[in-house]
Amino acid sequence: MSITAFDLNNPVEKNLAAMLASGRFPHAVILEGGTASERLALAKKLAAALVCSAGRANAPCGICSHCKKAAADSHADIPFYTAEDKPRAFKVDLVRDIRSDAYIIPNEADKKVFILENAHTMGNEGQNAILKILEEPPSYVNFIMLCSSKSGFLPTVLSRATVFTIGEAKNDDDAENRAAAVEAAMGIARAVTAIDDIELVRAAAVFEKDAKLLKTTLPVVQEIFAAAMREKFGVSENSSEFGALPEELARKLSRRALPDLIEACDKLMASLRMNANHNLMLTALCTTLRKAVSK
Ligand SMILES: [Zn+2]
Repeated sequence: MSITAFDLNNPVEKNLAAMLASGRFPHAVILEGGTASERLALAKKLAAALVCSAGRANAPCGICSHCKKAAADSHADIPFYTAEDKPRAFKVDLVRDIRSDAYIIPNEADKKVFILENAHTMGNEGQNAILKILEEPPSYVNFIMLCSSKSGFLPTVLSRATVFTIGEAKNDDDAENRAAAVEAAMGIARAVTAIDDIELVRAAAVFEKDAKLLKTTLPVVQEIFAAAMREKFGVSENSSEFGALPEELARKLSRRALPDLIEACDKLMASLRMNANHNLMLTALCTTLRKAVSK
């Protein structure tokens, strides 16, 4: 991973950049929401910015030795502590280690930036231990605590930290599954309008060894046809998730075909719930959609 400058179009990053530039950056920040990997990526960028030697208005520069080490996860002054995302997984002993570590001055940077992943899984004892250092942190120490939701923290800890909300909390797996389903669904929806039947068979090939993907994709195919129908009937919306596809489908498909396609998706989802044979399902997918569109 490389370290890039703060994205000033992103409200959270813009805020962080402004606070850094002001020279009054809080000792403890909590990054909540988004996916675990989004939180970690932002924490790494922020940690790099805090140790970067380019000056606080230009940090993180991405090219100084501090930024490069931060990008390689090898910066001695960016200690990383993590625990599983389950209750009380972040043990009090680990918090005590962090406290001792915090009193050791930085190696090579002016700052020492602790990234604590899944910090919300500290029990009360752990949180009270971290609170002691949040109350009187050494001047060179920064804490970046990551959590799906700040609601796991004691009010006393929250009162010592500045909370930044990345967005609604999401599971990494869910986000990945959704992305894969959207890609497959767009392939199917596009193939439905192809002149040659073979396009749909080709688009459906992604499901050949992946029954789970078919299950998550079918509702998305239906969403796409529903968006196309709204376009067709003049209820336009700016849903970027499917790009220009709904508009394109609205142009190519008739007013009769679109509701039929939506209904065809319902039938296919019903068959899937009844655990239909996977290969038969794939055949049904192609024939049902083709039949709906031929009207
Ligand atoms: Zn730098």
